[in-house]
Amino acid sequence: MIGADGIHSAVRHSLFGEDHPRFTGLVSYRAVFPRERGGNIPNLDSFTKWWGPTPERQIVTFPLNLGSEIFVFATTPQDDWAEEGWTLPGDIGELREAYADFHPEARALLDACESVTRSALHVREPMQRWSKGRITLLGDAAHPMVPFMAQGACMAIEDAVVLARALSGTVPDTVSEAFKHYEAARIPRTARVQEGSLANNWLKKGSNADWVYGYDAWETALSEST
Ligand SMILES: Cc1cc2nc3c(=O)[nH]c(=O)nc-3n(C[C@H](O)[C@H](O)[C@H](O)COP(=O)(O)OP(=O)(O)OC[C@H]3O[C@@H](n4cnc5c(N)ncnc54)[C@H](O)[C@@H]3O)c2cc1C
Repeated sequence: MIGADGIHSAVRHSLFGEDHPRFTGLVSYRAVFPRERGGNIPNLDSFTKWWGPTPERQIVTFPLNLGSEIFVFATTPQDDWAEEGWTLPGDIGELREAYADFHPEARALLDACESVTRSALHVREPMQRWSKGRITLLGDAAHPMVPFMAQGACMAIEDAVVLARALSGTVPDTVSEAFKHYEAARIPRTARVQEGSLANNWLKKGSNADWVYGYDAWETALSEST
């Protein structure tokens, strides 16, 4: 059984007991607007990140659907998250106010948004193991992370490739052994990305990104016995 059931994973709870993700103190706002609403905003066709005076305030934008739509992601600090639900409608006026001191091009992005969603950003600490017997975890169920390296879904896809490779040729009696090889290959990498995401300074200083983007899940080493 593979628990790929997200950050609030029931499979994880039943394997390792009830725990609660930690609220990071950050709220994310997300919006998509049609390209034409962007008017003369420069660089709408590229991935752009606007850093604020503190890491809690930043805007990320990039084109979707061959440039016909523009995605906007912005964060604001908040003391706690007591609301029901993880994603709620947001107040675009509040968001614009929070960014009132940003560069006019950044503010123009928020002006182009008609509505936004608002989500609490939560994390869990990296785990030592993901499996028990013939049950394992994959994706956010195993390693939820804040989105500041844009790697959460990428890590889930890499997990799937490595898990498929580890399971190749197994029989029911060797499944738990295969899970050990899967964990050994994946936990160090996903923990590093979880920690890097939480540090919230990815690519701010132009560091070498090869360890993230140069990884090949089809080729990465699995323990010899698999
Ligand atoms: C604001 C934000 C921006 C992000 N940006 C990026 C990005 O740019 N790049 C990137 O790679 N990642 C990004 N991510 C992360 C990405 O969305 C997640 O890491 C990814 O969705 C995890 O995939 P998953 O399949 O593990 O879990 P999920 O996508 O959460 O899927 C879990 C599924 O399990 C289902 N489920 C849960 N419980 C049960 C149950 N009991 N029974 C049946 N089904 C159940 C859920 O309905 C859901 O469909 C971002 C996340 C956020 C919040």
